Amino acid sequence: MNRNSLAQTAEKLLPVLKEESLSTDRNAVFPEAGLQALRETGLLGLLVPEEYGGLGADLDGLVQVAGQLAGGCLSTAMIWAMHCQQSDAVVRFASSELKEQLLPRIARGDVYLASVTSEPGKGGHLLTGEAALQHEVDTLTLHRAAPVVTGGRHADGFLITMRASPEAPANQVTLVYADRDQLDITARGEWDTLGMRGTESLGFELTGTIPASQTVGEPGGFQRIAVESMAPVGHLAWAACWLGAARAALGGLVELIRSPGRPSTMDVRSELVSERLARIRMDLELVSAYLHRVRDEVMELRAAGESLGSTPVQIHLNTLKVTAAELTFRAVDRMVQLAGLRIGYNRQSPLPLERHLRDLRSASLNYANDRLLVVNGALTLMDRTVRLA
Ligand SMILES: Cc1cc2nc3c(=O)[nH]c(=O)nc-3n(C[C@H](O)[C@H](O)[C@H](O)COP(=O)(O)OP(=O)(O)OC[C@H]3O[C@@H](n4cnc5c(N)ncnc54)[C@H](O)[C@@H]3O)c2cc1C
Repeated sequence: MNRNSLAQTAEKLLPVLKEESLSTDRNAVFPEAGLQALRETGLLGLLVPEEYGGLGADLDGLVQVAGQLAGGCLSTAMIWAMHCQQSDAVVRFASSELKEQLLPRIARGDVYLASVTSEPGKGGHLLTGEAALQHEVDTLTLHRAAPVVTGGRHADGFLITMRASPEAPANQVTLVYADRDQLDITARGEWDTLGMRGTESLGFELTGTIPASQTVGEPGGFQRIAVESMAPVGHLAWAACWLGAARAALGGLVELIRSPGRPSTMDVRSELVSERLARIRMDLELVSAYLHRVRDEVMELRAAGESLGSTPVQIHLNTLKVTAAELTFRAVDRMVQLAGLRIGYNRQSPLPLERHLRDLRSASLNYANDRLLVVNGALTLMDRTVRLA
């Protein structure tokens, strides 16, 4: 599907997403109508190659659609972005057998994928695992505690990181796929958070036995999947979602300021208002430029069959995630200040600025910025050429 058709498809979903965002945010429940629309439009198969029935889009399409959907509802956009992140890993690393079984189902909209990487004890650390896979002749048995699983009650399949075997060290991690009906799933706890309430990211206990062919990539080789697929696609898609939400918020604010409905105390000819608007716009411009630069870098390397694991590229991808998280939140925080109590801070406001503020506060926690900054500091000492993006 070309860029324009993708944009039109995503655009048509926005009324459903906007309407549903009110109740999903209020009740902290999953956007079922939004997911159904994503299934029906084929967008769940965005990154699935056409030979498997998918839309065969690239990372440009992913970034574009993520930004559009986030203008309707950031929770739904992130649910979809995380699903795409998982489907990219399947496309690039699953065996032909698993791809033939799974990708046509994703393309038809029958399989929405959830991600299980966080784990009690290790917290968010992506590249280690505690619970171990038990190997039998042709099968693998898992018992996994999963404290935060977006959409876990609604997912049709799960990509799960596990310690490779009971004897393996924590950093030998295997990624496996499990269909919902291959698992016993018990929900744990509640999802009652400040923002991103519509992701309904509950905790779960997952138990089951799967064929060994449902290993994604090499046993113990999850690090390569993280470097080549899960982290880069995640950082690009998340940044696009956060930017899309902040951009929609600014669009709404600009409309309001230009209308007679603006707060009567707001003087649009004031230089203070202009300066504040300029700073908001600058933050979004910087994220947008960096996002598109890093997207191009990743696409060029992928097209050339090269790894994304070099030190400068890793620094760029981590910088994108941290910068997008910080600047989009700061921009919306400034919008709240500019719009004031009635329009900016009030849940009954015609502009959902307070929801955007709560949602975007999660961006620096959703894979902790601190972790990425610690990594980037160490990587900076390794890149003597200081190869900037
Ligand atoms: C909306 C949302 C949806 C999510 N969906 C999923 C999902 O579907 N599947 C999934 O597996 N997970 C999911 N997560 C979890 C997410 O990926 C992170 O793993 C989780 O938010 C990290 O939780 P934490 O902050 O408690 O843990 P940690 O990352 O362990 O961090 C704990 C604290 O330690 C600090 N810290 C950590 N490392 C360092 C360091 N080296 N130096 C200094 N400080 C450090 C952090 O800043 C933080 O303050 C989701 C999170 C959010 C917000």
